[in-house]
Amino acid sequence: MLINDPEFGEVIVRKSPLSRNIKFSISTSGRLQMSVPKYTSVFLAKRFLNSNRKMIREKLPLKDPSMQRTRDYQKKILMKKAKEYLPYRLEYMAKRYGYSYDKCRLTHANTRWGSCSSNRTISLNIGLMKVPEPLRDYVILHELAHLNHMDHSKAFWAEVGSHDKNYKLHEKRIKMFSPGV
Ligand SMILES: [Zn+2]
Repeated sequence: MLINDPEFGEVIVRKSPLSRNIKFSISTSGRLQMSVPKYTSVFLAKRFLNSNRKMIREKLPLKDPSMQRTRDYQKKILMKKAKEYLPYRLEYMAKRYGYSYDKCRLTHANTRWGSCSSNRTISLNIGLMKVPEPLRDYVILHELAHLNHMDHSKAFWAEVGSHDKNYKLHEKRIKMFSPGV
């Protein structure tokens, strides 16, 4: 549920069967988030928000509501770009280096560029559309190599290195970017 607040912008209201009190926090998107007991009405949530304005202003590092909107928009554009590119690039790279995976999934986690699961699904972060192409390809290759080695063992790195001789540099460079959108 969302409350549109004139001061804080979109406020996320999460109903939690476990919470007994109303708690305020910041969501990953930078919005104000309230977790409330299951049967809290919108009216009550709004009233609680009003009576805590001063505390929220002082205690919580909120982003400007117009920045939230810009961010949502950027995320949408990035997702569109990613959909049109990443699954095809993954397919191409897999063919080129002789890998077969099952599915490609696009994510927007804040912490990881990609992952490879034991059921051979490769997840790629849409934030990859913001990094230089060699680094993007490196991440794809890294995840493909995990199809054969589900760890970061010597054998894993040897396999990555056999396809990308600059892998050490790429691994270092990608750390200078943040996957969060
Ligand atoms: Zn890895």
